[in-house]
Amino acid sequence: MKKRSKKEIKELQDKLLYKRRHTFSQMKRSELKALERYCREYMEFLDHAKTERLAAAEIVKAAERHGFSRSPGTGAGTRRWWEFRGKFVALAVMGQRPVTDGVRIIVSHIDAPRLDLKINPLYEEMDMAYMKTHYYGGIKKFQWVTRPLALHGVVVKDDGRTVPISIGEEQDDPVLVINDLLPHLAQRVQDKKLREAIPAEKLNILVGGIPLPRGEEAEKAVKLHILEILNRKFGITERDFVSAEIEAVPAGRAREVGLDRAFVGGYGQDDRSCAFASLKAILNTKTPPHTSICLFVDKEEIGSDGNTGAKSLFLHLVMEDLLDMDGSSGSAARSLARSLAISADVTSAVDPDYMEVHEKNNNAWCGYGVNLTKYTGARGKYSANDAHAEYLGFIRRAWSRGGVVWQAGTMGRVDEGGGGTVAKYLAQHGINVVDAGTPLLSMHAPFEIAHKGDLFMTYRGYAAFFAEEGSHEDH
Ligand code: MN
Ligand code: MN
Repeated sequence: MKKRSKKEIKELQDKLLYKRRHTFSQMKRSELKALERYCREYMEFLDHAKTERLAAAEIVKAAERHGFSRSPGTGAGTRRWWEFRGKFVALAVMGQRPVTDGVRIIVSHIDAPRLDLKINPLYEEMDMAYMKTHYYGGIKKFQWVTRPLALHGVVVKDDGRTVPISIGEEQDDPVLVINDLLPHLAQRVQDKKLREAIPAEKLNILVGGIPLPRGEEAEKAVKLHILEILNRKFGITERDFVSAEIEAVPAGRAREVGLDRAFVGGYGQDDRSCAFASLKAILNTKTPPHTSICLFVDKEEIGSDGNTGAKSLFLHLVMEDLLDMDGSSGSAARSLARSLAISADVTSAVDPDYMEVHEKNNNAWCGYGVNLTKYTGARGKYSANDAHAEYLGFIRRAWSRGGVVWQAGTMGRVDEGGGGTVAKYLAQHGINVVDAGTPLLSMHAPFEIAHKGDLFMTYRGYAAFFAEEGSHEDH
């Protein structure tokens, strides 16, 4: 065989080798402008959607602004929203094809790791008032001490009134904090495994330190003073905490990170980066080929149980409503089995400081686009949905048509750990489903990091999914 020229070898490389491409090297100037606009809006969403309830409210507000209605309608392009228990939202745009041909679903979760107040949280020690917490989801406890915290939630009074609570986000609001031991005295007590250094029962939030005024005597006067402040501000008493949901979350706003502003840093990007991307995708969808649905679910971080989690049959109810709107007597179960879905959740980006847990050929890189995750799970793919090759082929087709910069990666090295998403609960309906979302650094930390290019391409990936033609027989 004749020796090939340099040019021929180059052609061979271009033809055969897979080359990872950076989002910023692929985008035109006009696209970069759109990316910056998108990220500004996203950061605002993060600032306003600090809990699942607040996220649900923001999503409904945005839907209303974009022509979605609570009441049913008919015909392609009809836009409707549903809300369930204030924590689970669905948006749908009716497609050109009948609902019985199957729908397109993007499901993300709007809950995030945090500290919940206990049902009887307030106590006083040494003339300081504290609130006890129970952590929600997978947190590294040491990350939650010595940082400003805000409280958000609701208190339901025994007369049925619901009082919204929000403290710590406004410029002149006080913030709250969990203290940590000074290094000088930590040598013995905290000389242990990182995850044991701060026990859950020490995640107590400092909320006060001033007793009743001079001349007024009382037992536990600091605690009483705090209750008086809460009563004045919100009309609540100590017993009202029993019917309340109050979440301590990092106070403050999302920020641009990096001297070149490459990243967005903020709380709750797992999974609000994907929730926001899917929200934008459906808001910008006019008349899709197939009826397109976004689901925003709760409780993913604690296993998707509960009636606002992905295991609930809420999707079934939405499908029945959509069939009604279509004037169809078809079955919801059969329509679901013909449907396609993206489980819109974040993945871990390779952190070059921790290569020992990453496998760089098969994990997501920061800045290289939305990540397609064939399977999650742990120890031999246990508990994974493991999407079919046929379906991955369909997604690739949609994304290459939609100008999406994307990569394919799984989470970490085999046997280093793992995680799950809601994909398997959609799969139970027979839906073809695959995970796709934004790679994150410091996932589950109070300040998570996402690359702007990845955030924008997550949106583009979801939009292209809704826009793709093709029936369920094709994949
Ligand atoms: Mn997640
Ligand atoms: Mn998570």
